[in-house]
Amino acid sequence: MNRLPVKEILDLSGKVAMVTGANRGLGKAIAEVFAEAGVSVGLLARNEDQLERTIDQLRDHGAQCMALTTDVGEESQVKKAVEDIVKKWGRLDILVNNAGQISPGPLDTIDSSIWNRIIQTNLTGAYLCSRYAAPLMQRQKQGRIINISSISAQTGGVSGGVHYSASKGGMLAMNKTLARDLAPYNVNVNAIAPGQIETSGARLSSDARIEIEQMIPLNRLGKAEDIAYAALFLASPMAEYITGATLDVNGGILKR
Ligand code: NDP
Repeated sequence: MNRLPVKEILDLSGKVAMVTGANRGLGKAIAEVFAEAGVSVGLLARNEDQLERTIDQLRDHGAQCMALTTDVGEESQVKKAVEDIVKKWGRLDILVNNAGQISPGPLDTIDSSIWNRIIQTNLTGAYLCSRYAAPLMQRQKQGRIINISSISAQTGGVSGGVHYSASKGGMLAMNKTLARDLAPYNVNVNAIAPGQIETSGARLSSDARIEIEQMIPLNRLGKAEDIAYAALFLASPMAEYITGATLDVNGGILKR
């Protein structure tokens, strides 16, 4: 048998990850699941207090992790976060581009400052993190980049504005080109397109919630763990032959 035993396939001990937007919501769930799989995790976000609280919770469960207060739209801060991870753990195997701001609004309310902020965070942030993480992975001849996009990029979404869906669509396009460019270095690049997931960043009124749940074939909103498990799969040896793909995690609301 020249494959890993199934029981060992989710043991990622020795791997090092950088997860952006990790002090709450989907990023926190991804960091938790990675840590449980043995990964050392650098958690990035802007709110330092919330980041420290999340780190304390993870450490209580024995996780190897570090807080990196970072605005992903600021190049010098991203560069420093990657350097700090390498200084501490000597490598970087997995990058999860999750930091994002969910932003609604019809076109006439989206002025150029709102447009620029969302693109800077959701799209430029993913580009900057990939730009500084990829050379390390290329040198290692091994790595995984996971881009958290959105169903809004595929369908236009239900409430996000044009700036939001454009940022997430840009991410899906970048996902394919990065996958092509990094494949020769054994670096796999994949996206996850979540549907409606329950987090504080995606709060719904009770009426909207009922309406959306009725549209979802699996009849419930997604949970943060649904996305975290998909990210763990893409980071694991199970996904060795998958690159350039988008994994839809949406309860069946979009079927392709
Ligand atoms: P939350 O609002 O709960 O969390 C967003 C995270 O991103 C926080 O940790 C926040 O921390 C961080 N963040 C925001 N701006 C920046 C920045 N400039 N630099 C660094 N970190 C930043 O959102 P979710 O967990 O719901 O969403 C996570 C990702 O998943 C987003 O990219 C979102 O677009 C995507 N998504 C979510 C869906 C959902 O239904 N929940 C559906 C589809 C996609 P801080 O504010 O401290 O910086």
